[in-house]
Amino acid sequence: MRPSFHPRLINEPFSDPGLFIPFLFEKKALLFDLGDLRNLTSRDLLKINHVFVTHTHMDHFIGFDMLLRVLLGREKVLNIYGPPGFFSHVEGRLSGYTWNLVSEYENDFIINVTEVHETGILTRTYRCRDGFTNEGELSQKPFSGILLKTPAYYIEAALLDHRVPCLGLALVENFYVNIVKEGLKRLGLEIGPWINEFKNALYYNRELNERFTVIWREKKNIIREKVFILGDLAREIALISPGQKITYITDTTSSPENREKILKLAEGSEHLFIEAAFMECDRETAERKYHLTAREAGMIAGEAGVKRFTLFHFSPRYTHRAEEIQSEAQEAFLHARKKA
Ligand SMILES: [Zn+2]
Ligand SMILES: [Zn+2]
Repeated sequence: MRPSFHPRLINEPFSDPGLFIPFLFEKKALLFDLGDLRNLTSRDLLKINHVFVTHTHMDHFIGFDMLLRVLLGREKVLNIYGPPGFFSHVEGRLSGYTWNLVSEYENDFIINVTEVHETGILTRTYRCRDGFTNEGELSQKPFSGILLKTPAYYIEAALLDHRVPCLGLALVENFYVNIVKEGLKRLGLEIGPWINEFKNALYYNRELNERFTVIWREKKNIIREKVFILGDLAREIALISPGQKITYITDTTSSPENREKILKLAEGSEHLFIEAAFMECDRETAERKYHLTAREAGMIAGEAGVKRFTLFHFSPRYTHRAEEIQSEAQEAFLHARKKA
């Protein structure tokens, strides 16, 4: 199976948290958390269309300005999600600058900000040309646990307790369509933009007995066309594999309510990214600061049955002790998996 996205932590585990998730073959990316973004290039940042901010403690939100700086003046819609109170935090950042020249910009840059509450999700639009003033209408939808749904994947979220509400996040791929090259050859087809249309037809669950027209351009600009039944074409050229699930859990306490929500979100993940801010020997501090210990992170990973997990957000007090954090979590992981 070739995964269609490749998540990577932006920084080493003693620095600001954040997960960058670029999609293969597409100039698109998702971002979980907006901490220090200096390890991402402008090219990386330009791919980002959706950002999910777990909460607005500084180590998770200071990168907002850097992203804004790169996107300013471009034709772009940025969708950014956060916990209750998020509008005022975004507005606070936006109001820190002078916008008297933006009305003359040729391109239209828009930020859709979504605030996630247990009771519903609220969205507000901020337009660069209007100096990012908050004049748009507030739209409201019920919150079913899903923040974003596309044909290929969806984003699931839960509000966790970090003494402030903090989003736990999962990216779930519906299924993955691989194109079989031999099949293309057998049918005498060449790749082209129709491949994406074909994949979308499958992702959108279009009827398999519908017609699907393949149009491609050959040498000397000759346009060729062939009509298929979608299901027949899929049998010849598509290999469908189950999608993967990536979960991101940070800045949360290990109360029973939180654990239940985290386990539900992380269950069966291909890859769990989970904070291990403290070690078990400092559990009291972890509890006081509403963070997980490495042992708790490993136990959660084991109980959730994840294939693999990566730890991050280590407290600076453990500088040079990263391996100890790792082995504490690993031991708990193996123990929990054996019991499960
Ligand atoms: Zn925090
Ligand atoms: Zn933090």
